[in-house]
Amino acid sequence: MAPQYRERTFIAVKPDGVHRHIIGDIIKRFEQKGFKLVAMKFTQADDALLQKHYSALSKKPFFPDLIKYMSSGPVCAMVWEGLNVVKTGRTMLGATNPMDSAPGTIRGDFCVQVGRNICHGSDSVESANTEVALWFKPAELVNWDPVAKPWVYEDD
Ligand code: GDP
Ligand code: MG
Repeated sequence: MAPQYRERTFIAVKPDGVHRHIIGDIIKRFEQKGFKLVAMKFTQADDALLQKHYSALSKKPFFPDLIKYMSSGPVCAMVWEGLNVVKTGRTMLGATNPMDSAPGTIRGDFCVQVGRNICHGSDSVESANTEVALWFKPAELVNWDPVAKPWVYEDD
């Protein structure tokens, strides 16, 4: 598999997305797009993990509320792989603030307020690699070849 097809991103359904039964819709969009699921776990994140995950935001006034929100229930943590998946994944999620998220995006279609925006997606390849390593052990990342691969990529 060509290296550009092996880009990975970390996507998570946040506790509000779990409580509101939106896990399936989010998985469906990444599947139907043509991306490959590499890992998935349903887990209750503790504060230590979330503080690391959001360390770049630790000085923001909303940081304590963000940690409380993210630890208030289970999350569905996933790794998705494919061509340009980090940037495309962000586009599929929509703008951080659902008031600005376009209709047709996940946040645009399913939520209303920034502090309850139902999903997370890595913002760069570098942060994706850090986040994947933070949430998953190497052995949890599954190596497999989808049979649809030649119907998604023309030259592999
Ligand atoms: P993301 O990468 O699109 O998730 O956005 P950021 O990395 O900037 O922020 C992380 C998360 O913090 C967002 O998804 C929101 O859940 C939350 N957040 C960001 N900005 C605000 C804000 O101004 N107020 C509140 N309450 N939460 C925010
Ligand atoms: Mg972010």
